Amino acid sequence: MPELPEVETVRRGLDARLVGRRIDRVEVGRERVVRRTSRDELIAGLTGTTVTAAGRRGKYLLLPLDSGDEMMIHLRMSGQVLLVPAGAERLPHTHVVMHLDDGNEAWFVDPRTFGEVVVFDPERVGEVLPEVARLGVDPIAERFELREFRRILRSTRRALKPLLLDQHVIAGIGNIYADEILHRARLRPDRPANSLDARASRRLHDAIGSVLREAIAAGGSTLSDAQYVDLMGDGGSYQDDHRVYGRAGERCLTCGRGWIRRTVSGGRSTHFCPVCQR
Ligand SMILES: [Zn+2]
Repeated sequence: MPELPEVETVRRGLDARLVGRRIDRVEVGRERVVRRTSRDELIAGLTGTTVTAAGRRGKYLLLPLDSGDEMMIHLRMSGQVLLVPAGAERLPHTHVVMHLDDGNEAWFVDPRTFGEVVVFDPERVGEVLPEVARLGVDPIAERFELREFRRILRSTRRALKPLLLDQHVIAGIGNIYADEILHRARLRPDRPANSLDARASRRLHDAIGSVLREAIAAGGSTLSDAQYVDLMGDGGSYQDDHRVYGRAGERCLTCGRGWIRRTVSGGRSTHFCPVCQR
């Protein structure tokens, strides 16, 4: 599932290639991708508008339009946004097609159809997209202060892994990057947040920033299912730098002594090194 670095990579592509373009015509195939509103609302909300910016909060792409509305795109499990020349042969599961004034088409493709495309009035975000209104701090797009992060850590006994995954606390981190961040910070995923001293808190804060920035620089992670690709259809390469995710049973590349362990709780897998993560 695309996480912050993958969504940020798509955002950068949209910033370069979609901002400033007018959407002349819109086709909506499967209505499940517009379930929050309707096919007619999406078509009416997008047709004739120009995209004025490409933003992101957590895993949500937010694209302001010159009409005053915004387009939200969420990739969820398997969504892709692709830019292709007009008339290109459609891929299976192409659910939304936006015909642009520069002779290209922007597609929303999603085999599993958990993703969505919504046009909304930003003043009504709390009604239309309540989960966006409630997102926690985005550690890349917004100021992510160590002091505030320490306050959050001190305030709860929750284990670090579920805390990092909680989008209301920090927006954008999912299963892969939570594991990689905790390994970089040398902290066990089940460690209670309020057990961290000042140095460990700083290590975790630094690891969140450094792992996410390195992953963005690598264009994100494309796993063997190859579902995540950027706007031009290219995969990322950060999977080659994963230290724990997908490496269960292998020797830890950092300490050289531990063997990467995989546990499953609540249907989510967690990978960690029992030697260097304490
Ligand atoms: Zn290790």
